[in-house]
Amino acid sequence: MSKNERMKASDVFRGTTPFFGTKAGFDTVFPEIEEIEVTVQETGYGVIGDGIRVYRKNQFGEYIDCSNRRCYNGGFRIGSIIRDMVRDKTIEFNTSLDCKGYEGSPKGRKKYDSCDNTFTVHVKINYKESLNENKTP
Ligand SMILES: [Zn+2]
Repeated sequence: MSKNERMKASDVFRGTTPFFGTKAGFDTVFPEIEEIEVTVQETGYGVIGDGIRVYRKNQFGEYIDCSNRRCYNGGFRIGSIIRDMVRDKTIEFNTSLDCKGYEGSPKGRKKYDSCDNTFTVHVKINYKESLNENKTP
């Protein structure tokens, strides 16, 4: 039974490159981030309750999964969003994304339909003070 469970994007990614392109923890990959809060509101199949999930450091990886159990390779790439934010020193970022996965056979050999789940994403980052360019005295 478990062999036939659909892999999510994070599983597919984990197979080759586990976490933000390295096996290192969050602090190693993003040393400039003091704290991060990723709020995800998902709508669609398999969503539990209000669909809101909150992630902090080391509670997520390159991808955040979708909840649709029939969806293969589902979820969205949070890692690239965070990298863009860190590069631009962005403190808050909002976006809406469609699931990148599709409903298909186990292991994704056949594609039947795209996944209709959507994500509303809100990211807040506190940067470490020593790296702030606009320090107040
Ligand atoms: Zn999906």
